[in-house]
Amino acid sequence: MDRKLLLIILDGVPWRNWRRLFGNLEGWVAAGEAQRWKMRSVPPSTSASCYASIHTGVTPQEHGCTGNGNVFRLRQPDVFSELRKAGKVTGAVAHSFWSELFNRSPFDYVRDIEYDEPDSATINHGRFHSMTGYGHANQMTPSDVDLHATLTNLCLKHGLDYGLLHSCTLDSMGHRFYHDCQEMDHACFVADEMLAPFIPKWRAAGYDVIVTADHGQDARGHHGGTCDLHQEFALYYFGAAQGPDMDETLHQLQLAPTILNRLGVPIPATMKAPPFL
Ligand SMILES: [Zn+2]
Repeated sequence: MDRKLLLIILDGVPWRNWRRLFGNLEGWVAAGEAQRWKMRSVPPSTSASCYASIHTGVTPQEHGCTGNGNVFRLRQPDVFSELRKAGKVTGAVAHSFWSELFNRSPFDYVRDIEYDEPDSATINHGRFHSMTGYGHANQMTPSDVDLHATLTNLCLKHGLDYGLLHSCTLDSMGHRFYHDCQEMDHACFVADEMLAPFIPKWRAAGYDVIVTADHGQDARGHHGGTCDLHQEFALYYFGAAQGPDMDETLHQLQLAPTILNRLGVPIPATMKAPPFL
């Protein structure tokens, strides 16, 4: 049977918040229904640089996306392009940077906000949001449950073999309120509670599910550098494959080849990190 996989990325959630505040995910680990590891991001631990590395499996020093102000269509093979070569159907519900990095740039608000392109060489079904106007007092983020529902809608309507979901809610909350506060505790609690009902549904529909972050955040809501709070986050895996001992720390560059390997698609020579499943 052809395997299918959904990658859920909650932007900017440090290791300590996953373990402490995501009770549903941790409950499934305790029950033996999920495996969880610590993963370390590439430097710089900046969002766009990490998105590019998550899907290409190469470092920012190689792909050249040095930060959020330098987003362009990448040249390297990536998860979407390799799945398409194998005839798989792909989808993304994400910030518009993902469309720019992996499909076309610059982002055209009308053309690229929503597209269904069966012949695309990368993303077949895209649903994007730009967060234009984002700032300290106005997050401009969609509700996470709307994003989860949109991904589920794409899976049902278009039979996705691979779907990416990316939410900026918690990264924005961390920049706004920092981490030792009731607002952040509650935001993580809500994110866990909104995500949880979808996981059994996606599993029942035949999907492996990976839940992780692009990078962490420190006590002042900052990231981009090389300290543990910036670079370390959790990765939860729901599926039949077996990973290494849960004490092992994974590297972000392992994610792209792991996804392709799990979906039975050849790993391009540019992705040099070993798969972890
Ligand atoms: Zn980020």
